[in-house]
Amino acid sequence: MQAARYHGRGDIRVEDIDESELGSGQVRVDVDSCGICGSDLHEYAAGPIFIPEGEPHPISGDVAPVTMGHEYSGTVSDVGDGVTHLAVGDAVVINPILYCGECRQCREGNYHICDSIGFTGLSGGDGGFAENVVVGAEQAVPLVGDVPLEYGALVEPLAVGLHAVRRSGLQAGDSVAVFGSGPIGLSVIQSARAAGAGKIYVSEPRAARRDRAVDCGATDTIDPTEMDAVEFITDETGGGVDVTFEVAGIEPTYKAALQSVRPSGTMTVVSIWEGEVSSHPNNIVLGERTITGTLAYLGGPRSDEEYGMVIDMLADGTLDPEPLITDRIGLDDIVDDGFESLLDSESDQVKILVKP
Ligand SMILES: [Zn+2]
Ligand SMILES: [Zn+2]
Repeated sequence: MQAARYHGRGDIRVEDIDESELGSGQVRVDVDSCGICGSDLHEYAAGPIFIPEGEPHPISGDVAPVTMGHEYSGTVSDVGDGVTHLAVGDAVVINPILYCGECRQCREGNYHICDSIGFTGLSGGDGGFAENVVVGAEQAVPLVGDVPLEYGALVEPLAVGLHAVRRSGLQAGDSVAVFGSGPIGLSVIQSARAAGAGKIYVSEPRAARRDRAVDCGATDTIDPTEMDAVEFITDETGGGVDVTFEVAGIEPTYKAALQSVRPSGTMTVVSIWEGEVSSHPNNIVLGERTITGTLAYLGGPRSDEEYGMVIDMLADGTLDPEPLITDRIGLDDIVDDGFESLLDSESDQVKILVKP
């Protein structure tokens, strides 16, 4: 079958590989849609970061080349021995998180911050840029509530945004500022709106992304190349918003997110970073501000896990993936029309779905 595999920085190849064998406790899933994520772009442009090169990943045991793709949905086409809760034909979403099950965080139920955290489709395993995958049955989360199969590919990024908002402590009526409105920024905006945010300011240099921010619930958008976002937000709110989210991963947005939160407010850092930033600690001390980090989500089906919550919120229309999706492409076009297109700073692309 065809699969897109990462061989190294700038080197993703669509090639013919053998299908994985189905073992007990596993399911085979025919992939319907798989989104290209910002972390996939980091791997392609500046990686490897999560992708194991040389040393196998401690949980997957795999090393590059690996099949990429961790935001995917599909239909169960075969079930292994001992799998009772899934049947052929079931629509599922994959929880890509790989964890050890033994470290302190795993024992406390927080496997998304496991000491050995990995992601299927980055750290090894069967990524979703392939015709079919074999995954552990517990990784296949049923897509219930008549949610379109394609939307299942957006559960992962929407769960990142929901987890970030839950970590931030945002309360109904709070004012919010979001720095960066790519796919995760848009997910944060939707969850902030769902949580009852008041004003939602969004700072984003690309016009097409500002428009989509409005579709997702932004009340005011700012082009930071045209005006000073910190000054605008501070003036409008009389001293800063209650909660800010940093979703761009560059020093200027880190500083702006910290400087536009009011004293005793909270800044939540969602980005994964390629390097250090400098910041004056008095920004935190003098206003008793809080900085919180957030990573991934709980990817199970229960109502106290973000995947379960997102699927319910898609089913009842609270979350809408449509403003995030800008293109649908075939596997053969993944490099030129997918990765290269998203890396082009002039492009209006946000989330491209690959249909293997
Ligand atoms: Zn992702
Ligand atoms: Zn662990």
